[in-house]
Amino acid sequence: MSEASNPVSMIEISNLVKNYGSKFAVDDISFKVSTGEIVGFLGPNGAGKSTTMNILTGCLSSTSGEVKVGGIDILENPDEAKKLIGFLPEQPPLYVDMTVDEYLNFVYNIKSCRLNRAKHLEEIRKVTKIDDVKNRLIRNLSKGYRQRVGIAQALVGNPPVIIFDEPTVGLDPKQIIEIRNLIRSLGKTHTVILSTHILSEVQSVCDRIIIINDGKIIADEKTENITQVVDDNRRYLVKIAGPMREVTAALKAIPGVVTVDLTGEREMDSYVYSVEASKGVDVRKPIFYAMAEKNWAILGLQVAQMNLEDVFIRIMDKASR
Ligand code: ADP
Ligand code: MG
Repeated sequence: MSEASNPVSMIEISNLVKNYGSKFAVDDISFKVSTGEIVGFLGPNGAGKSTTMNILTGCLSSTSGEVKVGGIDILENPDEAKKLIGFLPEQPPLYVDMTVDEYLNFVYNIKSCRLNRAKHLEEIRKVTKIDDVKNRLIRNLSKGYRQRVGIAQALVGNPPVIIFDEPTVGLDPKQIIEIRNLIRSLGKTHTVILSTHILSEVQSVCDRIIIINDGKIIADEKTENITQVVDDNRRYLVKIAGPMREVTAALKAIPGVVTVDLTGEREMDSYVYSVEASKGVDVRKPIFYAMAEKNWAILGLQVAQMNLEDVFIRIMDKASR
């Protein structure tokens, strides 16, 4: 029932493992991606993102596990499976002595593409906004334009799945916005997986977030669920003059307070505490009365919106416990 009732699964990774000696770069990862989804693969450097993507795209062998793209096993039928995938690796395979046009024609040839050459390549140049540099040497292009050419080569052959490995690394803020918009618009007609170590990137582009750390998946959630966690919690930064351990204990004892952490900011005998409160609870007055009772002065109190970074750290904390 399960397989037959879910024919829209475009990517299926089951129990994927990749080890280098005793180091497990990927340690038993399983997930599915449905047709049309934009999934963010989020994790710190060294988490195993590139290794997973390189295996998924048939560029690297696995130690064990199964990878299917469009129902085709990447190990058994690599050529067939690869036709379904466009890949932008961490280091795009650009030939800098070619012009953009020469390079795209070269990619067209090695992919044995059958679509109308001129029309197809022009369409790609338009979508990726590189038509105006088509006769320029890749060597002379800015990093932002090179990344567009990298995306353009992934689109040759019109594959239904596109995999981006850290697509905005090294770009300036304006270029980052442009590339994100491009990925978002490609997501309307493609199944997309994008890896990043930047939280706002997945939040702004992806439907779903898979968080990976140390080769393992530690969360797999709809983006809105993670955003919900962000919205549901309020964090306060409170500067209090008083004995640190006792202040911490007193703050923790206040109903509605979920966590109390030191921010590391300190001035004489006062410390800045990060106090997280549960949904709908305003702990500011209770903090005031609790501190006043002990004669500890509140020197500052401000509301800090919880961001995805906080959520990430919290998930990592839970996973390592
Ligand atoms: P990410 O892309 O998330 O930064 P990677 O997939 O590149 O992480 O790497 C995951 C882990 O595997 C890292 O600890 C990395 O050092 C290790 N690793 C990757 N490739 C090799 C290799 N060829 N030989 C040994 N260790 C490797
Ligand atoms: Mg990587």
